[in-house]
Amino acid sequence: MGLLDGKTVLVAGVTMDSSIGFAVAKVAQEQGARVLISNFGRALSITKRIAKRLPETPPVLDLDVTDQEHLDGLADALRAEGVERLDGVVHSIAYGNPETLLGGKFLDGPWEDVSQAVQVSAYSLKSLAMATRPLLGPGSSVVGLTFDATIAWPAYDWMGVAKAALESTSRYLARDLGPDGIRCNLVSAGPLKTLAAKAIPGFEELDEGWGTRAPLGWDNTDQGPTAKAVCALMSDFFPATTGEIVHVDGGYHSLGA
Ligand code: NAP
Repeated sequence: MGLLDGKTVLVAGVTMDSSIGFAVAKVAQEQGARVLISNFGRALSITKRIAKRLPETPPVLDLDVTDQEHLDGLADALRAEGVERLDGVVHSIAYGNPETLLGGKFLDGPWEDVSQAVQVSAYSLKSLAMATRPLLGPGSSVVGLTFDATIAWPAYDWMGVAKAALESTSRYLARDLGPDGIRCNLVSAGPLKTLAAKAIPGFEELDEGWGTRAPLGWDNTDQGPTAKAVCALMSDFFPATTGEIVHVDGGYHSLGA
């Protein structure tokens, strides 16, 4: 028996098989869920190829979380795939211009790029939750991915600010969707070598020493533990948890110096 037997889950933000979203889709299928995935624009054809590497090839939807037409059409696009209810929605999406916002550019980051980063990486959690709202009901669970935004990191710069906005957005969504029985939580993952991570100039500085300092150690090539936590939060085993951030980082966050 799987943790997600009988459930239907949308995973937004799958490009490569290194994507955290890909690992979530894989674990969710292994745990019995029906899975749909999404990506946008030019990378959609890559996602369609990569989707074939999952245990079962899922439908791939075109969803740019900054495109209101895509958002407005999402519930119908899901219904066209035979989905009447979503038990889980995974937001595995972030973008910040690496040239202007990351890698030590904090003091110079221009507002146009900051606003894009906040829209794509934080506001879009609300956009995605509302776009799927007609298919959500009691027991449904929205889960996003953050990188601990309670402190300032090397290199992460404006993406850290965007993650702080994401963390706050998640709490407000939990507040406003809770009365309808819908949960909203985040998983705060340690550094993982994905496309998004490789685009951060100075990712090595963030990553450095994590594996040796974290009480449980940390493998930055293994998306599995993060994916399992996301799936657990979508399961019926966290029925009274919302507005929460679960750290999946080998315990690194719990240390001082
Ligand atoms: P990833 O594979 O690059 O996934 C990020 C996804 O966001 C990509 O599929 C990307 O599509 C998509 N995206 C960007 N702009 C979008 C838009 N406007 N509409 C829809 N989708 C859009 O990298 P990842 O590391 O798995 O990232 C997934 C999540 O985990 C992100 O929120 C990230 O911040 C978070 N996270 C990552 C780490 C880490 O160390 N890797 C740690 C903690 C948290 P394209 O590829 O087509 O641009």
